[in-house]
Amino acid sequence: MSPSGTSTDKTDEAFLEELVTLCDEVITQGFPELTTTTIYLDLKDDDDGSIQVEAYEDGDYLITFRRLFKQAPPTVLHGGLAHEMSHIVRDTRRRKKRPSSEQLFLQRYDHDLAYTKRYERRIDREALRRGFGKEIYAINHYLQTLGIPQQGISIQELEHYKPAA
Ligand SMILES: [Zn+2]
Repeated sequence: MSPSGTSTDKTDEAFLEELVTLCDEVITQGFPELTTTTIYLDLKDDDDGSIQVEAYEDGDYLITFRRLFKQAPPTVLHGGLAHEMSHIVRDTRRRKKRPSSEQLFLQRYDHDLAYTKRYERRIDREALRRGFGKEIYAINHYLQTLGIPQQGISIQELEHYKPAA
């Protein structure tokens, strides 16, 4: 990682453009059902999590990255996007199937750590099934290196997806 404030720092615009391209790549590679879904991208500075996805009432989505991801290699960003797109796919399915229990889901997700962990592991598995093994390894390893807690599958369990040095 390069120190911040150097001339190698990307502008927000350049990084967002890169993310749009990476987003298209992830959809083409493993999420064909999201081809017609509108996904907005944004950046944030605060340290509340790492990458987040929000659903709008009209079916559009917003994925927000912390600015520190400007330094991340494309494989890490692919992994982060594949994880968030797995959220989109599964969350859409859940809301359709059980709209009445959405409040209960959010309640549990926010307050029951064991439940959150189970859910986040399920999300990682969805991405793995879609062929994003080395990318999920890359993002989870990156978060661990930065000391950002992540609730998904541990890098020890993902060892066999680790690229050969
Ligand atoms: Zn997640």
